[in-house]
Amino acid sequence: MDDWTILGYLVAAVLFIVGLKRLSRPRTAVRGNQLSATGMLIAVVVTLTDNAILSFEWIIAGLVLGAAVGAVLAVKVRMTAMPELVALFNGFGGGASVLVAAASYLEAVDLQDDPARMTGAAALAVLIGAVTLTGSLIAFIKLREMLRWTGFAGMRVITIGATVVTAVLTVLMIVDSSSQWLWLLVAVAALLGVVAVLPIGGADMPVVIALLNSLSGLAAVAAGFVLDNSLLIIAGSLVGASGLILTQIMCVAMNRSLPAVLFNPAPSAGDGPSADDVYAGKVRSTSADDVAMLLESAERVAIVPGYGLAVAQAQHAVRDLARRLEERGSDVVFGIHPVAGRMPGHMNVLLAEAEISYERLVEMDNINPTFEQTDVTIVIGANDVVNPVARTDPNSPIAGMPILDVDKSGVVVVIKRSLSPGFAGIPNPLFASDNSLMLFGDGRQAVVDITKALQEI
Ligand code: NDP
Repeated sequence: MDDWTILGYLVAAVLFIVGLKRLSRPRTAVRGNQLSATGMLIAVVVTLTDNAILSFEWIIAGLVLGAAVGAVLAVKVRMTAMPELVALFNGFGGGASVLVAAASYLEAVDLQDDPARMTGAAALAVLIGAVTLTGSLIAFIKLREMLRWTGFAGMRVITIGATVVTAVLTVLMIVDSSSQWLWLLVAVAALLGVVAVLPIGGADMPVVIALLNSLSGLAAVAAGFVLDNSLLIIAGSLVGASGLILTQIMCVAMNRSLPAVLFNPAPSAGDGPSADDVYAGKVRSTSADDVAMLLESAERVAIVPGYGLAVAQAQHAVRDLARRLEERGSDVVFGIHPVAGRMPGHMNVLLAEAEISYERLVEMDNINPTFEQTDVTIVIGANDVVNPVARTDPNSPIAGMPILDVDKSGVVVVIKRSLSPGFAGIPNPLFASDNSLMLFGDGRQAVVDITKALQEI
């Protein structure tokens, strides 16, 4: 590597680190994103001008194709589908590491160019990369809610078996540098990714997404050692470390340990009481006019957003409602659950888009003790994160997940389109409780109607 390449890589690495640091605060996040993207641009250009690269045609073709697909996705993918896209990105990152490591290793084997020097790194890259690829594809399908199946009874035996076989194949590859072990390792690791992620669902999904993100970084680190490319090692380490930190944050938020998420998945939906048992004859519906009357005399109002707020794109309407309530003298706060929506920070991003100030967003641990003093709580498109069975039913898929204790407030108004379940697929007794009123309809329209009705009082 010449001095210019090393300097370019150094600048790119510094930009990644500074960018990542700025991404940790909402106010500086946009600049952080721009800095990291600039770092990546420098990294790509420097890599392209590095003399070690022999086939520019393929790289340019890949760049054009990747940029075209990325541009179309960036324009077309809805905000609510972002988490699925991130899952795909993680998977493709893992897949790319498999291809890069396998190609370099096989070339070294064919040319008898001392393949042993890279065997360990190549084995780790294809192992972690293949697990990430197939695990992320299963996560993608689950996030799309195309699959709720959590596998069959003896599947854990397959997971343990596949784990042992991958370890044996890794050792065989290191002892005897030959291509057959590599392909077998890729195949068994791909199976491991499927069987490891399939049983995970409900409240554990955010943890597994963060973990797969981390694994995609670790696969890149290993591929970086195969290629002897310092920038890939740095970038992969940053992704791996930040993903691990996020995994830890998500575990704490979900009150679960990582081994419990991976080896002792929560029970699946369908074993608990049916929707009819929970709701029959107990649900009371209301109208926007009646909710406005309630709010008119409320001193303290809490607004709890969930995934449905993102679907309805109700963030601007919610901001207008909050402003109207404040003009009338109410104290308004937003209760933020760490896994509301479909990606970490989903609600923060949405509410920031509507310029709702960060000071008004109150995290779960801080807002929970205040619900008893809250006159009205408006739940907009949230379901699992306010479901009291998490506290009461140890056999529920969300058992033990900390929730927002909205049921403790004076009145709870739940805005959603029907009594359909949320991501975890289970009924929510909150909707049938004595202090709850259901306002059925699209989240944005319902909030607009309430604001209009408030103006007319
Ligand atoms: P939920 O998925 O539990 O519920 C969302 C609710 O929104 C649904 O019940 C739906 O009911 C309602 N809804 C959908 N569209 C609209 C609309 N247009 N207007 C009004 N309501 C609407 O969401 P929560 O945010 O409460 O919980 C998040 C769940 O996602 C948790 O189980 C979490 O574990 C999981 N998860 C979170 C991730 C993260 O990182 N944050 C990642 C992966 C999973 P209806 O159809 O009747 O309107």
